[in-house]
Amino acid sequence: MVQTNTPDLAAIRRRLLAWFRKHKRDLPWRRTEDPYRIWISEIMLQQTRVAAVLPYYARFLARFPDVQALARAAEQDLLAAWAGLGYYSRARNLQKAAKNIVERGEFPRDHASLGELPGVGEYTAAAVASIAFGLPHAVLDGNVARVLSRLAPELGDTKSDAVRKRLRAFAEVLLDRKRPGEFNQALMELGATVCLPKRPQCQRCPVRSHCEARKQGLENQLPVRGARPSADQREKKLLVIEKAGKVLFWQRSAESSRLAKFWELPEPQQLPAALVTDCAGAFRHTIVNTTYFVEVCRATVRSRPRGFRWLAKSCLGDVPVSTTARKALALDAQSRRSGVP
Ligand code: SF4
Repeated sequence: MVQTNTPDLAAIRRRLLAWFRKHKRDLPWRRTEDPYRIWISEIMLQQTRVAAVLPYYARFLARFPDVQALARAAEQDLLAAWAGLGYYSRARNLQKAAKNIVERGEFPRDHASLGELPGVGEYTAAAVASIAFGLPHAVLDGNVARVLSRLAPELGDTKSDAVRKRLRAFAEVLLDRKRPGEFNQALMELGATVCLPKRPQCQRCPVRSHCEARKQGLENQLPVRGARPSADQREKKLLVIEKAGKVLFWQRSAESSRLAKFWELPEPQQLPAALVTDCAGAFRHTIVNTTYFVEVCRATVRSRPRGFRWLAKSCLGDVPVSTTARKALALDAQSRRSGVP
């Protein structure tokens, strides 16, 4: 590991910040100092790519421009605004936290009180505290852990507690305490755009002369990660049953362990009397460790079955519809446009 107080640390900070100022992506959450907007961006970016977050971020803030608006939002509106981003507990926790903030009367301004908000863990508390309030807390997400494990180099399994502890200590000692928010973002940006998981772009890296992994030819071997659990594979079929501009859906209960209150397309076993007319195609959809091969078929029913509702296609943006249902409807629309089958 790089040692505390070596000249390398100051040089790494300086080079990284200079590079960030020149090369950072222009992202909407980097144009604001509003802690509410920074907090929303950090929650949306958890396990989600920047490109996927961008349209949701703009729409979400147009709908819920401040913490008060989020606190009083109807759950259906909130889930509809989040539909497609996945990990829906994030949206529910956001609203719980917003209510909590409204009750307190002000946005929490330090790491400990940020960490008390529902859905805010160590990483998010450090990110918001440093970016919105300039407090010296180092972030350690997947991107940062990868960069640090290569700079060091750290040869242990990054999933182990001992290695996480070492990387955290390195992140704290490397942090630029005068500009913690900018420095944290610079390190994350380097991991997201240059120090990539596969084939890091070392020739473009501002800290390459300090990187031990590169010096030792280990950049493609690090970080070391324990074996991932293999993905489970399943097949399912969804029915698109359409009538006069409306589609047949069912709604998950409030107690459902997954996607509570989301609207879903029916599966054939739920509607044995449905008559399948043709199939639009198939797609793959992965949820955590399970990959579904989803076949999308069109069908008809004589009348609306109990427990099902017709939802107008034009209103589907206003209700929480699951991602698999959205993908199935998009595939159906695409195959109709291209005249297949
Ligand atoms: Fe990552 Fe390469 Fe830069 Fe090292 S030199 S930090 S491996 S991009």
